[in-house]
Amino acid sequence: MRPSAPGPRVIVLRCKACRTELPAASNDVAFRCPQCGRAWEIETGGLIERPSYFVAAPSGKRQPILYLPYWSFTIEAEVKAAFLAEGDELGARDKAARYKRGWVAAYSIHRPTYVGEWGAAYTRINPKWEVRSGHGPQAPGATISGVDGQSIVGHYVLGDIDRKADIGDLDLDLEVGDPELWAIPCYDLGEVIRCPWTRGELPAACLDDLSEIRRALERREA
Ligand SMILES: [Zn+2]
Repeated sequence: MRPSAPGPRVIVLRCKACRTELPAASNDVAFRCPQCGRAWEIETGGLIERPSYFVAAPSGKRQPILYLPYWSFTIEAEVKAAFLAEGDELGARDKAARYKRGWVAAYSIHRPTYVGEWGAAYTRINPKWEVRSGHGPQAPGATISGVDGQSIVGHYVLGDIDRKADIGDLDLDLEVGDPELWAIPCYDLGEVIRCPWTRGELPAACLDDLSEIRRALERREA
């Protein structure tokens, strides 16, 4: 259902659970219902439900919070056998076993390889988050599909293990779970957004639709 030619797409999407209108910008393919918090992705033939979670905002700091969408997946990585020096093999095994879950930013970022992608960092450090489901924060729609996120997160894990050992020589089993749509908070500081956990910053200009996102969220909170 992605438009084949540029131009506005006029479809009204409603949450299949509570019938609330879903906040759909023209490039969005998945949404968190602003009313009940359930997640829906556009698939051929309609909306399919995805598991929906959000991360509790960090307490203490009085800074404006912006929730952004991420795809999240369970990860099982196991190094079976290798033709490597023993040290390398153990390093790769340990590293593979550490992965439990991965994340991919579901919003559009300009030049992500240059400015960084926080999903990759979260996949590496696996933050201790307070994770919740149900009614919760407002978040913009996802512009990349869950299936695309699934293949990207696989590359994050492989790329990271590859730094420990040449994966060409490894027999690696990688299982990535089904897409879950997560809303994860960051600080909206105007010129930049800042990650509360890594302290990483992204220039606001790197987020494709940030002004549109801010306007939409303000409208709904008003
Ligand atoms: Zn709903």
